[in-house]
Amino acid sequence: MNIFNQIRKLSEEYRDYTAENLSSLIKIKSLSRQEENVQQELKKQMEESGADEVVIDGLGNVIGRIGNGKKVLAIDGHIDTVDVGNIENWNFNPFSGEIKDGYVHGRGSVDQEGGVASMVTAIRILKEIGIKNDMTVYFVGSVIEEDCDGLCWKYIIEEDKIKPDIVIITEPTNLNIYRGHRGRMEIQISFNGISAHGSAPERGKNAIYMASKAAMEIEKLNERLKYDDFLGKGSVTISEFISGSPSLCAVADYARLHLDRRLTWSETKESAINELESIIKNIDAKINIPYYEEKAFTGLKYGMEKYFPTWKMEENHPVIKSGIKAYKNLYNKMPRIGKWTFSTNGVTINGIYGIPIIGFGPGNEIYAHAPNEKIPVDDLVVASAFYAAYACSV
Ligand SMILES: [Zn+2]
Repeated sequence: MNIFNQIRKLSEEYRDYTAENLSSLIKIKSLSRQEENVQQELKKQMEESGADEVVIDGLGNVIGRIGNGKKVLAIDGHIDTVDVGNIENWNFNPFSGEIKDGYVHGRGSVDQEGGVASMVTAIRILKEIGIKNDMTVYFVGSVIEEDCDGLCWKYIIEEDKIKPDIVIITEPTNLNIYRGHRGRMEIQISFNGISAHGSAPERGKNAIYMASKAAMEIEKLNERLKYDDFLGKGSVTISEFISGSPSLCAVADYARLHLDRRLTWSETKESAINELESIIKNIDAKINIPYYEEKAFTGLKYGMEKYFPTWKMEENHPVIKSGIKAYKNLYNKMPRIGKWTFSTNGVTINGIYGIPIIGFGPGNEIYAHAPNEKIPVDDLVVASAFYAAYACSV
């Protein structure tokens, strides 16, 4: 039997194993920075699957490894989930992990513990069929993605000193191959006015008026932002407007806009800041990019600037071509190629560190962050086969 038939057969044999591992993960609530219990469960699962070594790093990422060769492939799935929102909107318990009618039910099933459970099964398959001598494969259950995408990989690359040649991101792609998404950044603009008695506003300079004029220009900016055939258009919106004044009977001397900027191909931190600089020139205002810094469940305080660069891989990049080949060898048909609407850990992995990425994950992204989240067990089976086949195709 050829190796791909063997992988496919094993992935089907381990169908219940994969679904049950996912169910166990879902049962443990795992909000960002509170992933300790779910990480203990994931570590146990990876050990049982036969990984050569499993460690929890200083930030709380679980890293399983097989092989010890020069060529390094990493498969990444974030383990943290968002909260459940209004429980009234759910038709079932979000933490039941119930396996019924061909689905695993619950918060995190699609975004994205399903990808994590599938990669645990890939460990088991690869241990059974063996990997090439010159390869190391890391299986990463990463933390804090929902709070600050990419932070976990900044830590893995800079502190754990693991810099893979290729990363597979297992966020939901509906079993298509994804090769990029828009980047994003958060920007604050602070305006300094001069307060005066509210009875004589002409003596002061109102920061709210200053910010409002800039806000109208920022709205118009949308018309001039770049467009990319694959990733679509850049966008900007104002997500918060706050102001301050010595009293409600005074001219406001302070205002601040918080912007959500989505960056398409060729838009960068510098280009986005330059556009805004030209809007606030001649105004007493200052632009800054907020810095994320929080404590992980391990107690470690770690952070990064809230700039999450755009990334895309060309369709004919070897990393994408290997994925197409692996999929075709397994299922004898062409996979569809696409992109994520949302952002992933790819912002640092490729956006900052330039490591080639291929995206492939079980589940449909429309269920991400939504009530009644559930994932087809069939998808988990295919994803586990794909990860094993990919490791055998590069
Ligand atoms: Zn996600």
